[in-house]
Amino acid sequence: MKSNIKICASWQKNHEQPVYTLADTCPKCNSVTKNTAPAPFDPTDAYGEYRRALKQRVRE
Ligand SMILES: [Zn+2]
Repeated sequence: MKSNIKICASWQKNHEQPVYTLADTCPKCNSVTKNTAPAPFDPTDAYGEYRRALKQRVRE
């Protein structure tokens, strides 16, 4: 199941820490939120490294 947790898109500007929410706007600063799904450091993406390597190979 895909997570629908979102994160304040401007948290680095507006907050000390990332602000997570389920809403389309940040509850603290009212900025738009973005989906956290394609996180570059997702620890649950065990095959991410393999997939990226494969993609790179296809490009060659
Ligand atoms: Zn915010």
